[in-house]
Amino acid sequence: MAEPHRIVIVGTGLAGATAAGTLRQQGFTGQVLLLGQDTHRPYELPALSKGILLGDTTDPDWVHDESFYADHDVDLRLSTTVAEIRPGDREVVEAGGAVHPYDRLLLATGSAPRRLDLLPGAGLAGLRTLRTLDDARALRAELTEGRRVVIVGAGWIGCEVASAARTHGAEVTVVDPLPLPLHRVLGDRIGGVFRDLHAEHGVAWRLGVGVNAFLGEGTGEGTVTGVALADGTELPADVVVVAVGAAPRVELAHAMGLELAYPGGVAVDEGLRTSAPDVYAAGDIAAQTHPRYGGRVRVEHWANAKDQGAHVAANLLGAHEPYTASPYFFSDQYDLGMEFRGLADPTTDELVVRGDPAAREFTAFWLRDGAVRAAMNVNMWDDGDALAALVDSGARVDPAKLVAGDLADVMG
Ligand SMILES: Cc1cc2nc3c(=O)[nH]c(=O)nc-3n(C[C@H](O)[C@H](O)[C@H](O)COP(=O)(O)OP(=O)(O)OC[C@H]3O[C@@H](n4cnc5c(N)ncnc54)[C@H](O)[C@@H]3O)c2cc1C
Repeated sequence: MAEPHRIVIVGTGLAGATAAGTLRQQGFTGQVLLLGQDTHRPYELPALSKGILLGDTTDPDWVHDESFYADHDVDLRLSTTVAEIRPGDREVVEAGGAVHPYDRLLLATGSAPRRLDLLPGAGLAGLRTLRTLDDARALRAELTEGRRVVIVGAGWIGCEVASAARTHGAEVTVVDPLPLPLHRVLGDRIGGVFRDLHAEHGVAWRLGVGVNAFLGEGTGEGTVTGVALADGTELPADVVVVAVGAAPRVELAHAMGLELAYPGGVAVDEGLRTSAPDVYAAGDIAAQTHPRYGGRVRVEHWANAKDQGAHVAANLLGAHEPYTASPYFFSDQYDLGMEFRGLADPTTDELVVRGDPAAREFTAFWLRDGAVRAAMNVNMWDDGDALAALVDSGARVDPAKLVAGDLADVMG
């Protein structure tokens, strides 16, 4: 495959910006055009629900210094929406009409928060979601002492927003139709650890009950003033945050006829190639045929966006290396920090716990067919490499040694 002259990247998030930087690191001297809707230069998202909401900082971690783009001849165009891609003509079309030819294209359009648009009152002003730096700064200003904050959704972002809001002294209620926070990822026992953590910090849970409507002055206009639950309860609120997950932004991919994956994302092969010639996808939108897991894997986490962004650069230049990394993510809530490696199904995988969940110093392992599918260390930071090796090995382990043994010695 001949080296390309013009590479266009759609999306200035972590995946897109990392790919642009890596192309230059790898010595690519052709045109790199990086197009994105955001008004800020590329930044990482984790601080949005942590340091920025906590007020520790007003800036996120930027992917590159401000001068990087000019210094490395990366043509970064912010506040730019891509409206259409014409794969037959190898052209990207901006909403404003400008047309950019490409030899290789990277789609890195990320995800958008789900909004519960079908519920009555979903159009009320003041309903907040959290995805961009501007969202985070605006929400930070609202999380103040005594304000009544209702968070819809007890996933990672809902839990992190609750933690920040309580730290500022807001009155926080979190609503979720599932019986426990983070239930889909962590299951009953470990989900209970997070329920107790937040309860101890003063969060009021409304678990096992859904939202029926957002309340306000009228149902379509005005500002949100509360949330109506399916059991008839009405929760008055000064701030309502909808944190019910995100959906991959596949509109462009769909319109240009790329193969999509069920239940979401752009289908890519082991080397992050889409179904169209010379078009790749990375980050939140990429549903990869993962060499380790066999089926399609789509990961909405920081490390995946960063690592796939770096990995895809060589493939854009003509290599075809499979992306093999296991999923990894982290979260911080109050004084609890955790890392999670791998992919598990807590409803069917066997849970083995090392350490003391009540003291919030433990490691949870999820085993399938005798091997560690996933591991989560909570407030324990010495075993990261051993946990990564365990998850990546796929080797059968002795569960008793996981509970109380040398982690370097549990395979076999
Ligand atoms: C608040 C928050 C906190 C998080 N915290 C953590 C964490 O602690 N740990 C962790 O592992 N993960 C965390 N994540 C997830 C992680 O940050 C994301 O998975 C990752 O950043 C995704 O990067 P991306 O580049 O694929 O997508 P995005 O960051 O979503 O970037 C995609 C970009 O594409 C642009 N775009 C989309 N369509 C178009 C178009 N048509 N034209 C032009 N531009 C377009 C968007 O505007 C956006 O800027 C967090 C996410 C959020 C929202």
